[in-house]
Amino acid sequence: MGVQSPNSKRRWPFFVAVLMPVAICLVATVAITLGFVLWSAQGVDERALARQTMLATHIIETQLSRIPHDQESVTIWDDSIINTKFALDTAWIDTNLGQWMSTFFGHDDVIIVDNKDQPIYAMSDGRMSTPEAGRAQMPTLQPLIDRLRGKIAAGGLVPYENGAIDHPPRVSDLTVVEGIPSLVSVAPIISDSTQIKQAPGTEFLHISVVHLDADYARRLSDEYLIPDATFTSAASGGQDIAALPLTNSSGRFITFFDWSRARPGAALVNETVPVIAGAFLIAALLAVVLIHQLWRKSRDLEVGQTKAAHQAAHDALTGLPNRGSFDTSLTQALTQRLARDRRTSILLLDLDRFKQVNDTLGHRAGDDLIRAVGQRLSQLVNSGETVARLGGDEFAIIHTHPPGLGAPLHLSTRIIEAIGKPFEIFGSEAFVGVSIGIATAEGDDVDAHDLVRKADIALYEAKASGRNRAVVFEEPMNELLQNRKTIEVELREALRRNDQLSVAFQPLFSEDRTIIGAEALARWTHPQLGQISPAHFVPVAESSGLIGALGTFVLRRACELGAKWPGHTIAVNISPAQLLNATFPSDVFELLASTGMRATDLELEITEGILLEEASEAAEALRVFRSAGIKIALDDFGTGYSSLNYLKRYPVDRVKIDRSFVSQLAPGSVSVAIVQAMVTLAHALRIEVTAEGVETIEQMNVLKSLGCNVYQGFLLSAPIAPEALERLLRQPEARVA
Ligand code: C2E
Ligand code: CA
Ligand code: CA
Repeated sequence: MGVQSPNSKRRWPFFVAVLMPVAICLVATVAITLGFVLWSAQGVDERALARQTMLATHIIETQLSRIPHDQESVTIWDDSIINTKFALDTAWIDTNLGQWMSTFFGHDDVIIVDNKDQPIYAMSDGRMSTPEAGRAQMPTLQPLIDRLRGKIAAGGLVPYENGAIDHPPRVSDLTVVEGIPSLVSVAPIISDSTQIKQAPGTEFLHISVVHLDADYARRLSDEYLIPDATFTSAASGGQDIAALPLTNSSGRFITFFDWSRARPGAALVNETVPVIAGAFLIAALLAVVLIHQLWRKSRDLEVGQTKAAHQAAHDALTGLPNRGSFDTSLTQALTQRLARDRRTSILLLDLDRFKQVNDTLGHRAGDDLIRAVGQRLSQLVNSGETVARLGGDEFAIIHTHPPGLGAPLHLSTRIIEAIGKPFEIFGSEAFVGVSIGIATAEGDDVDAHDLVRKADIALYEAKASGRNRAVVFEEPMNELLQNRKTIEVELREALRRNDQLSVAFQPLFSEDRTIIGAEALARWTHPQLGQISPAHFVPVAESSGLIGALGTFVLRRACELGAKWPGHTIAVNISPAQLLNATFPSDVFELLASTGMRATDLELEITEGILLEEASEAAEALRVFRSAGIKIALDDFGTGYSSLNYLKRYPVDRVKIDRSFVSQLAPGSVSVAIVQAMVTLAHALRIEVTAEGVETIEQMNVLKSLGCNVYQGFLLSAPIAPEALERLLRQPEARVA
């Protein structure tokens, strides 16, 4: 199962949970900020407009009051009365009351009327015209004139003449003169010296008109810094144009005073919005980056979870399903309804001699070996079948096949063959075997746990009956379901009493099939369980501290027999635990002495593991034994690693080539080369070679051709009772078939 990338469907919640809130927050923040900026800008603009409008109103008022002020420079003047009222001097009037007003103050029109309100002088746009031309304007001006005459008639001049007020009465207003909105001011022409007395109501009047036209607007613009000031009859209505309606004193609309309104708020907006937009763009970018990071993190997390799930279900070393996922797969396989002609079997596998490889070459080599085994197994099963590593050197296979034991047994044979081939580990060849327990699910209602238990029992049997083989579970085995504890208790009992344990002897033969000795093998006949294999109980004895007693028992029987048959080799298997016991050498010598057996007839079979693990202690014991003439044989030779190298360092008298090599011997096979190499090396070191587990005549012949010295195996003789052995020894010339 590969690590899957999370699919889009699973991303959807991420969008809802993360992306949407962030997007909404951003948009809301943008909206609120912009709204606030626009709102406050509008407020600023409105306040600015109010201020400008106030200023404009003030300007118009100032203009209106300025005109009479301009007029007073000429209307309060004795010469003016003289040149208008007393002697009409048009030239003088034009220069002093007309042109002067135009050039110096910028008044557009000037009209001077007599005491009957008849124009006596008129100037239009700075140019003198006829009094008749002035008359045309009279209808518009008459109301203002009337107002002034009314003021004077009411004695308006008296307080001025008394000095009570600074200005004589005058009337000024906005009005439309000949279609042009204008400022108009009417002022009486009076004496400045009070030398010339005029009868009240007989004053001539000076009328000044200032057109509210483009020129004038421009002047206001320049003077008051009001941008683009104009006077228009219709409000332009543009957003950027402020329009102040100007009315005369009686409330009549005259004109609009327009200008470009100052919009500091809008300017602020124009300046700040890009900045704000930029800031939000950066924020949005940041959010996108953060969200992307977040998304990647969450995706990594998902991938991590998928990976973790994979790791949880798989063995780290081999990548195969682990025990947990094997259990799940098996339960699934068993609940699945199989076709009528299909069965499910499980094969439990346990490597033989793996511990030796692990111990001698180190854990890294052990790991390499396990990996390689996993690969070989994976190549053997059909696709869809499960190969799992249960832990240590245990593997399991779920195998579906047609009814009958043919298929699982065939698969087992192929597995044993494949695992039996040498493994290239760190440049050396390592050899292991495999024991297989097979259990087939029969019927519908099979419990996975039960099936595994049955396969386990079968595996136990496979190991007990010599390893490197497959055993199919059979119901009677169930009775043998003994846990180690039971065996320990029973073995302790058996060692205490004298009627269950015995020693069998398997004869050893020379090349010409002459019996030269025997190997002592422990035997245990349990009253209920029957024969129990030493492959079962020796490991229990080793781990429970009973091996010393058991070993002494076997050794005593062996010595007793050996004492009777001097000149014959009696081989005894010695466990590492025995060899490491400090009193062991003295125990052996004591037994030799008490039974009378010759030390030179005794051969101790040890495994190479002990030489590597506890080298110094073991080497010391072996040195003691060898100096006394006791021979040392290296049992199960070739099954571990480095046997050949260690032979040089720890001299032994004999090697026993393991039966897993012998069983694979066929002319031309790899094993032939391996055994050949072992024999050659052993002989070079003056070490004798025993071949164990010889079952066929073909094996015997190959071994002979390779130069083996001693032969042991079912072909020649199975382990037999001491009496039977003695019968054989009595007639050595009677060769075994
Ligand atoms: P081992 O030392 O390799 O002993 C030889 C085993 O191979 C014996 O099994 C024997 O019955 C079996 N065998 C003999 N010929 C053949 C053959 O042609 N083909 C096959 N397939 N097997 C053959 P056994 O007696 O079941 O002993 C199993 C193992 O138990 C021994 O293997 C040895 O490691 C251990 N063992 C037996 N007795 C003692 C003992 O007294 N002390 C100790 N420490 N270990 C013992
Ligand atoms: Ca042995
Ligand atoms: Ca052996």
